[in-house]
Order: sequence, then C-alpha cells, then structure tokens
Amino acid sequence: MILFKQVEELRSHLEKERAKGSKIGFVPTMGALHKGHLSLIDRSVADTDITVCSIFVNPTQFNESADLKKYPRTPGKDISLLCEAGCQLLFMPHVEEIYPKNYQPKRTFDFGNLDKLMEGAKRPGHFQGMAQVVSRLLDIVDPDQLFMGQKDFQQATIVQSMLEQMESSTQLVVCPIVREEDGLAMSSRNVRLTKEQRRLAPNIYRTLKAARDKTSTRSPKQIEDEALRMLAIPGMEPEYFRVVNGKTLMPIDRFDEVGFAVACTAVRLGEIRLIDNIILKNKPSR
Ligand code: AMP
Repeated sequence: MILFKQVEELRSHLEKERAKGSKIGFVPTMGALHKGHLSLIDRSVADTDITVCSIFVNPTQFNESADLKKYPRTPGKDISLLCEAGCQLLFMPHVEEIYPKNYQPKRTFDFGNLDKLMEGAKRPGHFQGMAQVVSRLLDIVDPDQLFMGQKDFQQATIVQSMLEQMESSTQLVVCPIVREEDGLAMSSRNVRLTKEQRRLAPNIYRTLKAARDKTSTRSPKQIEDEALRMLAIPGMEPEYFRVVNGKTLMPIDRFDEVGFAVACTAVRLGEIRLIDNIILKNKPSR
C-alpha cells in the first residue's frame, strides 16, 4: 500500500492509473477502522482495480468540539488493517492540505429537506461540512465508484443528491451495516462506551428489529411511539425514532404510500450519540 499525504502526489499517481484503464474505487473514512469500514474496502477491492481509502477527521462536520477532540485515532492499526485488506492507496492528509488558506469551496449544494431532518436537526452544520469534505475528496480522487455504508443512511442519501447536483459520473455503492454479534452497529465511537453503556447499546438494534417485525400490523406512527417506549431505558436517551420515506427522508403516514421505508434512530448514552437504521420495506408501492 502506498501512503499519500499530498493532494498533488495522489492526483498524479491516479492519473497514471486512469491512463492504464484502471477502475478506481474510493472509501472515505475518519479512521479508527473496524469491520464496518473493512467491508467497504473488501467490496471496493472486489469490484474495482485500485482501491483508495482516505482517513481524515474532518473538523467542519463536528458540531461539538468535545466530540472532535475525543474522536478515536488509531493510525498505526488502521494502516495494518488496510494493508491486510488489500487496499492499494491510502490518503491521510493534514487539515491544511484539504482546506488550504483561502480555500473556496467550488460550489454549494441545496439538499432541500434532506439535510434538515433527523441528524440535520440535531447536528446543525454537520451535513454541509460532510458535503464540503466529500466533494473536495471526490474532486481529488475522481473515482468510478464511491463506497459508503448504510449505517449513515441520511449521509448516503445526501451524497447521492450531491452526486446528482454535481452531474458526477461517480457511482455511489451503499453497503450493508456490519454489526457486533449482539446486534450493535459497529462504530468508531463504540470504544468510548462504558461497560454499562455497552451492555445497554444492543437495545437499539432490538428496537429496530421489533419495528421491522410490526410493519404489516402497525402504522408508522404506532411503530415510532412503541419504539420510543422500548428505548426509554435508564441510561439511554432516544433523540428520535422516525419512520421515513427512504428516498425523501420525509415522515410517512402509511406504509402503502411508499416503496421504500426506513426507520432511523439516534440514541444518546451519556456523552456518546449512536445512530442506526433498518429498512422496513423496499418494494414497489401500490
Ligand atoms: P466514518 O469513519 O464513521 O466516517 O465512516 C466511514 C464509512 O464507513 C461511512 O460510509 C460509513 O457509513 C461506513 N460505516 C461506518 N460504520 C459502518 C458499519 N457498521 N457497517 C458498514 N459501514 C459502516
């Protein structure tokens, strides 16, 4: 694996690869890699000729400075995991490389409601910061395929909208959520949970599965109410549990209104916020 820290060096390496006809896959991450990240690398290695992974803890998408400060960083371990997984190129830039002095974003994006609901409402500025860094990274890597996780469902929906607004030829591939044995979605933030919080955290997936099991007998509103009751456990604070149209992220009144319905939730355990989701329906609507 080759490690790049400079934009121009990575660009010129990729230009040569492209000239050879290599298909380029890209997996952007913030590091502290786990099996969820590695599933994206595996998919890229399987589907493309050259896999580029980036590790960059993007300051502009953190709305809480304590969260940024405490974000886990394990570069040595990340590098060995990526080598083992067959990733060929790693981009680990410093902040100044991504946002040089006088850096002007090429464009702004209008996501309509997509970046205002759920995570957007709870984390002001988060998605604009995420879009800023992803568009900058896409401008540098210009991949054929971009691999992202369903774990961050709203993020993937916004990135799809961004690619459409950019009229980009990059194809977004959304990969399934990788979970611990007890159902907790893997996340870099899980290492910050206390023993007791870690014991409680699988209730999030339990609640999502219960929601999925009730889609034929309950309305979206009933599912949301019952889920919030299930999550009301001492030590856990559900911020939201929404049943939404998986394309527009808007709330739905009935399941037969939409072909694609997803339940999304965010739960706070002490200082740590965990997000998760489950697909409730993915079929043509009547
Ligand atoms: P992050 O480092 O948290 O920014 O995540 C980088 C990428 O990995 C994003 O596309 C995430 O959606 C994806 N990802 C994070 N956790 C998981 C998981 N448990 N399963 C699958 N993909 C994940």
